[in-house]
Amino acid sequence: MSTTCIRHADWVVAWDAVGRRHVYRRDVDVAFTGDTITLVDPGYAGPADHVVDGRRLLVLPGLVDLHAHPHHEPAYRGVREEHGVPNMHMTGLYERSQAFVAPDDDFRRASTEFALCELLGSGVTSLVDISPAWEGWLPLMAASGLRAFLAPGYASARWRLDNDVELKYAWDEARGREGLAAALALVDEARRHPSGRLSGVVSPMQIDTCTPELLEESAAAARARGLPLTVHISQSVSEVREMLRRHRRTPIQWAESLGILGRGTILGHAMLIDTHSWVRWWTRRDLAIMAETGVAVAHCPTPFARYGQILESFGDYLRAGVVMGLGTDTTPHNLVEEMRKAAVLSRVASRDVRSATAADVFHAATVGGASALLRDDLGRIAPGAKADLVLVDLTLPAMQPARDPLRSFVYHAADRAVRDVYVGGRPVVAGGRVLTLDHAGAAERLARAQERMLAAVPARDYRGRSAEEIAPLSLPVVR
Ligand SMILES: [Zn+2]
Repeated sequence: MSTTCIRHADWVVAWDAVGRRHVYRRDVDVAFTGDTITLVDPGYAGPADHVVDGRRLLVLPGLVDLHAHPHHEPAYRGVREEHGVPNMHMTGLYERSQAFVAPDDDFRRASTEFALCELLGSGVTSLVDISPAWEGWLPLMAASGLRAFLAPGYASARWRLDNDVELKYAWDEARGREGLAAALALVDEARRHPSGRLSGVVSPMQIDTCTPELLEESAAAARARGLPLTVHISQSVSEVREMLRRHRRTPIQWAESLGILGRGTILGHAMLIDTHSWVRWWTRRDLAIMAETGVAVAHCPTPFARYGQILESFGDYLRAGVVMGLGTDTTPHNLVEEMRKAAVLSRVASRDVRSATAADVFHAATVGGASALLRDDLGRIAPGAKADLVLVDLTLPAMQPARDPLRSFVYHAADRAVRDVYVGGRPVVAGGRVLTLDHAGAAERLARAQERMLAAVPARDYRGRSAEEIAPLSLPVVR
């Protein structure tokens, strides 16, 4: 096993195990052997196969992206940013997921490889990839060098639109059960992978598309394996209204009644809860349920903010005692940008500058995500933790003046300042370049893949519209 020492690191965001918080340390060495950090202190005196000059560097723990869909989201670039359906309380989710669909596995491969390059380049070292299983997924995740949590999605129903007001469901319980069995087989295969970097999350896709039986079985399977479970919940007003109609309870309250909420349950979004101004349901219990049961929220500000919706608020969830993690959900796969949005939009929602700080959102993007994944060896720089590290270049003008380098990173430079990334002690990004995958090649294949998706839109849309009619270009094309 080889040892690497980052010597005289100017700034290190290190883990204070007693205070259970990140702290700055100055001019220390960070040493790791194999995939594990062995020392965070001045004056490392042991042997080192590789020495990195840590002067003018900020060393961060690798970021944990708790919620993303790499198999198709990059192909929504230029389509999704301004697409929404006013008659569905602004969400474009249902219309888009029916009309814009990944046509084949070459599409999924290009899209995923492209997303993984963006993720690695912005300092993400752990990723929860929520995607329908596809051929070649596991080998690509292994080749990427990421610490990957495969979350093969399945459901008992599909959403079905025949107009732009009503959300309808096509139920097929047998399909859901087969999906669960196949997902568990793939997750078990990932856990056996010799790299030790692959694992899984049990992922019934949405609270409204799964029967109670499928959700309960999924939770039991996750518990039996000691794995997390993730489900999209409270992600649209339409979903909340549907669940109130079916169960006379909010989605969060119904999930609690099923017994599927607890530590290790990751709620995708959990934004439109009973107290949210777009919902205004009378019960006022959802936030307390999330805190008391110990679930984690995968908060993804970007896709919702584009519809005009924000969490109300990140800071209020934190102070209520909810474990908060962050995800990218869509493209750009840039978790630093999500940190920035989470902090700023929390203050907008609370009308209070104190609502969320850089420290709060950085905690969510590291330790919060690790806790959600039941992993206390991730998201922190401390002896015994995995050597998942991000080296940030303090000499970059966008990082200067680096009086408070975490603020320089979160509010200013973001991914531009990411120089090197290690996952389990292995270099995966060097000098800003992804070493394990082909970003430019994936971009080219993705562009062709997007054309195939767009060409199929009229056959899939309930009104037979073209992609251009559903999501027009931002400017007219004139001769
Ligand atoms: Zn999602």
